[in-house]
Parts: sequence; structure tokens; C-alpha cells
Amino acid sequence: MTSKPVNASDQLERQIERWVRPEISQLKAYPVPPSAGLIKLDAMENPYRWPEDLRQQWATMMQEVALNRYPSPQAEELKAGLRARFGLRNDYGLLLGNGSDELIQLLMMTVSGPGRVVMAPQPGFVMFRMIAEFLHMDFCGVDLDENFDLDMPRLLRAIEAEQPAIIFLAQPNNPTGNLWGVEQLRRVIEAAPGLVVIDEAYTAFTDADYLHLLDDYEHLLVMRTLSKVGLAGLRLGMLMGRPAWLEQIDKVRLPYNINVLTEASARFALEHFPVLEAQTRQIREERERLASVLKELPLARIWPSEANFILVRTPEGQARRWLDKCREQGVLIKCLDGSHPLLQDCLRLTVGTREENDALIAALRQC
Ligand SMILES: *Cc1c(COP(=O)(O)O)cnc(C)c1O
Repeated sequence: MTSKPVNASDQLERQIERWVRPEISQLKAYPVPPSAGLIKLDAMENPYRWPEDLRQQWATMMQEVALNRYPSPQAEELKAGLRARFGLRNDYGLLLGNGSDELIQLLMMTVSGPGRVVMAPQPGFVMFRMIAEFLHMDFCGVDLDENFDLDMPRLLRAIEAEQPAIIFLAQPNNPTGNLWGVEQLRRVIEAAPGLVVIDEAYTAFTDADYLHLLDDYEHLLVMRTLSKVGLAGLRLGMLMGRPAWLEQIDKVRLPYNINVLTEASARFALEHFPVLEAQTRQIREERERLASVLKELPLARIWPSEANFILVRTPEGQARRWLDKCREQGVLIKCLDGSHPLLQDCLRLTVGTREENDALIAALRQC
């Protein structure tokens, strides 16, 4: 028996063209480059694993998880652990997502509709724009100034003109690594007609903490994730704010979005959180060391970072060559040249272990 070829026939291509939404067929899938055998400094992962004894304890605990059962719909015990860990008052609501990416999607689904606008400063986290496009929403990116600070007159004008349903403010911002200052954030929140979400994905790497702003603003939500602190594989994000908002957003959440393995592993990780905190302290120290070494290289610019990555500008026209050179040396980094005019010649370097950073520095020296 001969099997039929599965490559697209002309008929299949015509069908796809007819039925797939044009906005979708024009999109490029989120690129994840192959990383096998490379030192992975492109995706803001924590480079450390857990110590052996902890992995053993975790494996023992996981044997007890009932894979035949659906997850608990509200994950109450996990939520209690997260509240305690992040200092979230009991009268605020907490909604869990399959990563904060899913929470961004739920938020937009809740407010989407013809003519509804999503706003975020640019350059910023790409998922804000991508998910807005998935959901037929208008995305309005507002450029930062040359120092990657909020351009307040421009932003306030855009808010006034566009009346965004939702504004996303990542603090620290990805990919620029900086903070915008609480007074500026307050001005944006106060000008916003709709929801404002402060995305604190990098909270483990900064002393800044804007959770307290919830006390002052009913239309503010704060989002965090366990990804950058060292559990990117688990996929667990949290959205915090007024229960009245979260009750609405919860309606578009699929019932079992947090699987039993994630729930059990996250509870375990919360009990052993000092291990992760020690790792993030080490990453913060390495960030300072890496930054000071980078200053000796012939880079056009290095921006200070409050996150677990550093943004740098190569000499003119060199970013792609430096990216390729690093890959030849076994180090995978992220090239941002071409993704936004303000990111011309820019590379984003995730902070790794001491050895990984040394390999990165050696590779960059070759450039
Ligand atoms: C990495 C990142 C996220 C995504 O986090 P997940 O919980 O892994 O989905 C969200 N926001 C920003 C700004 C990020 O950089």
C-alpha cells in the first residue's frame, strides 16, 4: 500500500487561502530557534536546575499526583501559597494562567470587540501585539524615547485619541530592561479610560514592586509569572486585582487551564522558594559582573538592566554578524535589529551562569 503524500496540493493551498483569516495567514509563527547543544542565552530562562536532593523529593511527591483526575478547578491551595509568597491581600482576587501569555490572551478576550484598542509602549513584549492580532483587536504601539523612557506627551495624546480598552506596561520592560518610575506609571493609570495591566514578569530581578498600586486604582491589575524566577517549563502566571474584574476575566478561562503536574510542582516549588531566590540573587550578581565586562568591549551602547538580560548596541550594521559569530562559538543570543527602529543594531543577552557568561564574553570578544 502506498501512502498519499502529505505536502500541500494546489487544492489544499486554495482551501487554506479561502478559509484562514488573512491576518493569520500573514503572521509569522513565534520563532523559537533550534538550541540543541548551544548555551541558551536568548530566552530569559534561569540557567540553574534544582539540587539533586530536591529533584528526588519532587519526583517522590509527583508519584502521588492523580493523573486520572481533572485538576481542581480553582487550585485553592496553590493560590493560598502564591498569596503568601507574593504578599497578596486576601480581599484581592487571584487568577492563574498557563503562563502569563495565557492571561494576556484572557484579558484581551474579555475586552475585545470591533474597534477596541490594545495599547503598549514600544519596543515592548511581542505577545501584546501578537495576541491583539489573533483577537481582531487594534494594536496601538506608542514609541518610547531614545533612552527607552516613556514619552509622556506622546503617550497621553495616544490615550486621549485612541481610548484604549487595555494598556499593558511591562515593568521592568522587555526587551529594554528598564523601569519607568512610579510617578509616570501613575500618570498613565490616571489617564486610562479602561484597564491597565502592570506586567511584573521580572519581579525577581528588581527591588521595584508595584503591587501596592492596586490599593489606589480600581482599574489596575498586576501580572506575575513563575517563568523567569526559574520555572519557565511549568507555565504558571498570576493576575491580581479587584475581584470584580477577575470574575469577568475568569469566565473566558478554560476550566482546567492549570494541569495537575503544574499545580503540584508549583506548590512544591513554593515550599522550597529560598532555593530559587538564591539562584536569582546569583543571576543579579552575574548581571552586574557581565555589565561591567561588556563595558570593556567595543559596543556602541549598553543599557542598565533591572531584569535578567542586558540590551546592547553593536557598532553600526554589526548585530547580525555578532549573532552569527556567537552561534558559531556555541552561544545563542537574541538579535533585535529590525524588530523596531529604536532597536537598530541591538542584541539582547540573557544572564546565565558564570561559566555561560564567560563563554558569551569570549564569543563577543571574537567579534
Ligand atoms: C517572558 C515574559 C512574559 C511571559 O511569561 P510566561 O509566564 O512564561 O508566559 C510576560 N511578560 C513579559 C514582559 C515577559 O518578558
